[in-house]
Amino acid sequence: MKKHLLINSEWISTDSYVTLYSPYTKKVIGEIASADTNDVNKAIEAAANARSVMRRMAAHQRAGILENLASLLQLRREEAARLIALEAAKPIKTALAEVDRTIHTYKFAAEEAKRIHGETIPLDAAPGGENRVAYTIREPIGIIGAITPFNFPMNLVAHKVGPAIATGNTIVLKPAEQTPLSALFLGELLMEAGLPAGALNIVTGKGRVIGDAIVTDPRVSMVTFTGSPEVGISIRSKAGLKRVTLELGSNAAVIIDDNVDIDPIVERCVTGAFSFQGQVCISLQRIYVVGDKYEEFTAKFIQASQKLKLGNPLDPETDVSAMITQKDTQRALDWIQEAKNQGAEVASGGSVTEDGVLQPTVLLHVSPQSSVSCKEVFAPIVLINKARSVEEAVSFVNDSNFGLQAGIYTKDIHTAQEAITQLHVGGVIINDIPTFRVDHMPYGGVKQSGMGREGIKYAVEEMTEMKLVVFNLN
Ligand code: NAD
Repeated sequence: MKKHLLINSEWISTDSYVTLYSPYTKKVIGEIASADTNDVNKAIEAAANARSVMRRMAAHQRAGILENLASLLQLRREEAARLIALEAAKPIKTALAEVDRTIHTYKFAAEEAKRIHGETIPLDAAPGGENRVAYTIREPIGIIGAITPFNFPMNLVAHKVGPAIATGNTIVLKPAEQTPLSALFLGELLMEAGLPAGALNIVTGKGRVIGDAIVTDPRVSMVTFTGSPEVGISIRSKAGLKRVTLELGSNAAVIIDDNVDIDPIVERCVTGAFSFQGQVCISLQRIYVVGDKYEEFTAKFIQASQKLKLGNPLDPETDVSAMITQKDTQRALDWIQEAKNQGAEVASGGSVTEDGVLQPTVLLHVSPQSSVSCKEVFAPIVLINKARSVEEAVSFVNDSNFGLQAGIYTKDIHTAQEAITQLHVGGVIINDIPTFRVDHMPYGGVKQSGMGREGIKYAVEEMTEMKLVVFNLN
């Protein structure tokens, strides 16, 4: 099955194609076009030509296209989930949940398209401003270069494409190498949904080649990137004065106060740690249990994690499947070994099954210097450490280069308030795991977790420019 580039509403072939394998079965699932800089140039040109159509399109028409898209995706929900499961090895039940979220994301985008507006400014508040009327409008920023990761190949594309269409921008999208099929499927649906030619162009292939061509092209006004901090930092250094939003990594943590009941929260923490093999930017990587509850929580957490079903992502029973590459599995194993060498106990998991799935792994008493603690693990590995107090646990959470979201379970409102004040993150989740996300909430991080916010309304702000209008009535 050969997959081409999508440029100006046409499937364009390239000089070279790369074979795509499923991470779990290792079977061939496609031959994917590998774009060169000439192809990227054509995609940007198509996006430039489509600008005037998109910026003049009425809000209700932009909303209509997004509504059509949401309906089409609803009709082809199972097919979409199967694609995600095949190319990303995301267990099918999690993949279905992603498709459902994606439908919501496009619905939110359709709604936001209808409420992009500015404000009136009382100019006469300043001497010299009498008899003048002023207001602001929000205009599309132009061509948006969108670069997306493998782990939510549909919904994270939606978080860029949805608000970009809602705001009347045009897009050049570069999906992750391992997950082009979901993005190309979206391209197909959007053509059917009535998007004008050139408004969305999809270039597949090598990150560095395509990424550099997009990021350094003067016609592109904004780069919206979700992915690893290393790539994000390099993009920002090359982007000059372009607007850049970066949604990067994390080593998200939860604090469990000693006043909470353990039973109701265990399953939720297991889900947070091991969903999609821990390859989620807000995956629960570090758990700090305060005081006496440590032993109880640890025992129950291990018991629950051992009930997870490992195997083929297409099996509806599967909870945990293969990681995205064997190289990443090996890195995870190396990090487990390093943690052991530095004094950690492997309380559960720690090895790979016959079919190449890393078992959900629970590490105890982990040194803060170990990679599994201080770096982004992005694997089915979680550490559970003891803290003497919530205050100490907060200091452990903050002892990180990242700051996306953090969670705290507590029954004490004052403790919650203190944690809200002290935690240095983009979002604090009280009485839930840091992995909580719905698609209209402002989402983004501090420190090396990125800059800017997604969540449709907030992405709309990033993707528009403010223009001031002043009428002199004197
Ligand atoms: P990645 O950084 O390897 O790749 C992301 C995208 O960047 C891909 O499309 C890739 O082809 C492209 N790319 C690679 N090199 C590039 C370059 N030099 N210039 C421009 N683009 C380049 O990330 P990944 O492995 O696909 O995804 C995992 C990472 O994404 C994790 O760090 C995870 O935390 C992060 N992530 C963050 C969020 C968030 O919202 N904060 C959400 C999901 C994933």
